[in-house]
Amino acid sequence: ISINAAPLLDEHGEVTGGIGTFMDVTQRRKSIQHKDEFISVASHELRTPVTTLQASLQLLSRMKDNPSNVMLPKLIDQANKSLNRVSVLIEDLLNATKMTDGQLHLIKTPTTLSGLLQDCCNHVLTGHTHYLTTSGDMELQANIDADKIEQVITNLVNNAIKYAPNSQEILVNIAREGNFAKISITDKGQGIPPEKLPYLFDRYYRVDSSGKQYSGLGLGLYICAEIVKRHNGDIGADSHLGQGSTFWFTLPLN
Ligand code: ADP
Repeated sequence: ISINAAPLLDEHGEVTGGIGTFMDVTQRRKSIQHKDEFISVASHELRTPVTTLQASLQLLSRMKDNPSNVMLPKLIDQANKSLNRVSVLIEDLLNATKMTDGQLHLIKTPTTLSGLLQDCCNHVLTGHTHYLTTSGDMELQANIDADKIEQVITNLVNNAIKYAPNSQEILVNIAREGNFAKISITDKGQGIPPEKLPYLFDRYYRVDSSGKQYSGLGLGLYICAEIVKRHNGDIGADSHLGQGSTFWFTLPLN
């Protein structure tokens, strides 16, 4: 509680009373605490790839007189990956701010969903041993902002790769449900405890908030949910612990 007090004076300057205000600042304190925690997580997440990038560049600069060094391609690859990670984190931070400020503008065009899925999954899976099995209705079209929906698919497939490192198959299904197309992405990874499912799409939410096993800001699914909601669709997750998870979203059909 924050307390403020001021004396009440009469015309001769004599104290005749006082005014006190009591304000409950618990919420404000909590909000500052959450912000501090988030800044600490975000700084840590950014520092890790930046440190790797610095180390790779230092080694590369020592090798500049020896371009045939066998380590060269590996170091360049490492530097690229680290830089990529930094730019994904920055993009997520900027996107999350945009969503909160209501600045998400959509440019919609009629799009064949299977084509969009194939294109962006091919892109995401490059360099990974995971592979995709696609099934369902390949003809479905929806009026969507293809770039934004690509971002949703990319996030979900990236999560399937990240949280199912030992199971290479990712299943993608496109199905018609009434006037909606339902896109589901299934992995056979670790799964999610049922009591955590309701919070997955909350901003900053992470199942393992310690970040010990997997890094992340807990923004990816929040961004997906905001984009899908703006398309008047729905998003959700089903999961069985130890067996895998299905993330799905719907989009109104043309
Ligand atoms: P991040 O991956 O950066 O933590 P997300 O918003 O993408 O943030 O995901 C929120 C949380 O949901 C993750 O921390 C993870 O615990 C859980 N999660 C997301 N996708 C999967 C998945 N395919 N399998 C298991 N857990 C997942």
